[in-house]
Amino acid sequence: MEKRDYYEVLGVSKTASNDEIKRAYRKLAMQYHPDRNPDNKEAEEKFKEAAEAYEVLSDETKRKQYDQFGHAAGQMGGGAGFEGFQNMDDIFAHFGDIFGDIFGGGSRQQTKRKPQPTAKRGHDLIKEVSITLEEAFSGTKKEITYYHFTSCSTCRGKGTEQEKNIEVCPKCRGTGEMHYRQGIFVYSQSCAECSGQGFIIKNPCNTCKGQSRIQKYDTLSVSIPKGIFNSAELRVAEKGDAGIYGGKSGDLIISVHVMPHKHFKRADDDIECTVSTTYPQLVLGADIDITNIDGTKETIKIPRGCPVGERISIKGKGFHKIRGKGRGNLVVTITCNIPKNLSAEAESSLRTYAEQIGSDVDDTSSGAISGFFKRFLG
Ligand SMILES: [Zn+2]
Ligand SMILES: [Zn+2]
Repeated sequence: MEKRDYYEVLGVSKTASNDEIKRAYRKLAMQYHPDRNPDNKEAEEKFKEAAEAYEVLSDETKRKQYDQFGHAAGQMGGGAGFEGFQNMDDIFAHFGDIFGDIFGGGSRQQTKRKPQPTAKRGHDLIKEVSITLEEAFSGTKKEITYYHFTSCSTCRGKGTEQEKNIEVCPKCRGTGEMHYRQGIFVYSQSCAECSGQGFIIKNPCNTCKGQSRIQKYDTLSVSIPKGIFNSAELRVAEKGDAGIYGGKSGDLIISVHVMPHKHFKRADDDIECTVSTTYPQLVLGADIDITNIDGTKETIKIPRGCPVGERISIKGKGFHKIRGKGRGNLVVTITCNIPKNLSAEAESSLRTYAEQIGSDVDDTSSGAISGFFKRFLG
């Protein structure tokens, strides 16, 4: 499409003053403003055309070149740059102040567009904490020290102490990308000037070097509820990495590792252990005192004629249920302690008993005798 004469576009004479040019542009910008012409391609083209004309005619150097060479001046290089505008946002970034007083300053977000670093949410962090089974049973508090990003307090997470130091990257015009043409292909790559961020900070904050956050150790006290399971994850909201440029902080996830215990074992909400008894206790029955994992005393009743491997439950003495009310059970598995050595008297009684029930046993009573002789000789 043939480019129209810029004076013609704005409807002003070649001798028009700067004020006339500005007024003419404002009138057109109002008429073709995208807020008034939603989804109107033609209006958008007119809006861009007027912006381009205004950009050239409002600039003394560009206007002089245009007056001498017409549109050819734009292709001559040397800074004239009549390249026009690729997108609407560029127009608002350039001439935002023109619309400010027409549209009340706030009717379109782009009109007050300031270079603003994009806020990004910080990462969630995972920290493993090991606790004993006793601690899982009763609940505990743990001090957790971890290394993470925190918002820089010098610049209050802005990267600079004065926001006016933040400027749209002049190289990529805030897009963060540079496009290169090679033959029919267009390549894009991250803008090297601003590291793809779209903005540059002229006087970055000394503390965070413009990064808006710093890394440091923090200590946090975390309550671990009673009844917690191995591998459970506790999420502490917004205690992970601080967000970038004022973004929301990530969460700290506490992964709880419950260490195995020598005597007790967890099964769902039950706590299990084994208790060693004697043969007469199993045969005749007994009350046996045991100590639960939290140190409380319980008495289990061994019934008369109790088999080895019997499981005896004490209701409500297990783990506190993490969801809902109540507790699991304390489950005791009964084993029998078989002595290697007996006193001569005990052995004699046992042999009599074996004879009574017709149970064949070995004749050699090595344990007792060797024990006896040891005592006698030593
Ligand atoms: Zn850039
Ligand atoms: Zn800072």
